[in-house]
Amino acid sequence: MPIPDPSEGSGDARLIASVLLDAALCVDCIMKKTSLAAQRFYVALFIIAQTRELEISRSRCSDCMITKHVYKLR
Ligand SMILES: [Zn+2]
Repeated sequence: MPIPDPSEGSGDARLIASVLLDAALCVDCIMKKTSLAAQRFYVALFIIAQTRELEISRSRCSDCMITKHVYKLR
């Protein structure tokens, strides 16, 4: 995976952070809510993980209610 350019992905990272502030969401729901393609999503997630405490756990998604890996900001 190429090293992401933070200046390019920071807007995406902010977008993802904003939906993860009050909900624990799975990848599918984050992509649905942010309309990001998978490639940009993972780059932005990488940026968030460098600057914020990103918690990944197996639990119920706040949106689709399916138990799978969900992301949450602490
Ligand atoms: Zn979900």
